[in-house]
Amino acid sequence: MEDTLKILVVDDDEVNRIAVRYALNEAGIQMELSEVSDGNDALSILRTTAYDCVFLAYRLLDQDGLTLIQQLRSSEIKVPLVVLTGQEDKQTAVKLLKAGATDYLSKSRISPENLAQVLRSAIRVYRAEMQVTLAKDQLRESHEQLIRKNQELERQQQQLQIQNFKLSEALLLKSHFLATMSHELRTPMNAIIGFSQILLRPKFGQLTHQQADMVERILNNGKHLLMLVNEVLDFSKLESGRLDLKAEIFDISKVINLAVGEMRSLADAKNLSLLVEMDLQNSLVFNDPVRVKQILINLLSNAIKFTESGEIWVEVEELPTNRVAIMVRDTGIGIAPRDFKRIFEAFRQVDQTITRKYPGTGLGLAIIDSLVRMMGGKIFLESKLGVGSMFKIELPRQITLSSVGSDPPPLQDGNRVVCSVKNPHHSSSQARQTSIGYPKYKI
Ligand code: ADP
Repeated sequence: MEDTLKILVVDDDEVNRIAVRYALNEAGIQMELSEVSDGNDALSILRTTAYDCVFLAYRLLDQDGLTLIQQLRSSEIKVPLVVLTGQEDKQTAVKLLKAGATDYLSKSRISPENLAQVLRSAIRVYRAEMQVTLAKDQLRESHEQLIRKNQELERQQQQLQIQNFKLSEALLLKSHFLATMSHELRTPMNAIIGFSQILLRPKFGQLTHQQADMVERILNNGKHLLMLVNEVLDFSKLESGRLDLKAEIFDISKVINLAVGEMRSLADAKNLSLLVEMDLQNSLVFNDPVRVKQILINLLSNAIKFTESGEIWVEVEELPTNRVAIMVRDTGIGIAPRDFKRIFEAFRQVDQTITRKYPGTGLGLAIIDSLVRMMGGKIFLESKLGVGSMFKIELPRQITLSSVGSDPPPLQDGNRVVCSVKNPHHSSSQARQTSIGYPKYKI
């Protein structure tokens, strides 16, 4: 308290005021002292001037000290208040402190030491109280801010929920539309394919070379269109969880040979070698043969589509823990690591421009991804731009029949069991694995 202190003494008794002034001077307090003799004057001076401390007599002519303290505090005048009491008892002192007095001192104990001590402690206490009040105010403010932010977050969450709901509704509608449309398109497509096949049969009359060529084109385009329509139908079924696996025991090597056989003409047309290597002790598996073939056909058609020259290998091998791996490698254009994940998303293609070189819906890998998940398998991808790609599918030898609640049947020849595996809807926990690295094969 080295600074000059501004002190106000409020007392109607001049003798008391002199005693206070004298004691403070004697105590060596550096101060600027003002004196008033009644409560009203005290109020008006305190409203306009800031003081470091007020010494206030409990009894004044116009009012008592308690009323004055209450008035001061209710008019938000902030100043340390030391009440100088007469013969008042302890209860009065407690009342004064409760009303907002900082401290009190009996007039009979006024001495330089006592007054200086009370003054210093009142100022210290008052400053500490002010800091506490400030901290409380800041705390209240940040608490209120938190509440406001929380309310804002809740509002945003609600909005998100509504948007989410709308999105799911739109997604469902879209899936429904895709399923209906592709279903409706399949009937005329089948008629076009069927009738062009009949027209090409010699017993229906000889077509000219040109006519046969045109009918063949109708047939091939029809088949291609049907394949696209089927892809869309499968995708919409997978999306809405309406595609079920029809599991049975079958010879996987036969299904693989069948798929390769179907794709060979396409590979031949591009002068690509299509090689198959199977290393299986036991070629029986329990799975959906139609869907396993579909996965392989999709991988092979991509391999052929994205390879201009070189070879395509299909390798099948047994893995520990009762699993089978099917690998399709090509010497094609390859895929950049940044696209590894993206290409498994529906409608995603590395080249998304309208003028892209390679046709397709961008649904093949998304369908494979969903099917492999349903089968409890994993997909691995290794690729390098300009070198080639390797897609590896790891499948359990026997897929789990979780929805029918039974163990898979023993794998023996001639044991033909057909079960339906429900689509458990997309589960993101069973993540696809992509291993990024240099292709293991040499070109
Ligand atoms: P689509 O073949 O109909 O475009 P897919 O879902 O089968 O759709 O494949 C998505 C994309 O992944 C392809 O457009 C292509 O960019 C990339 N891709 C898939 N397979 C290969 C491959 N063997 N070599 C290079 N790129 C591939």
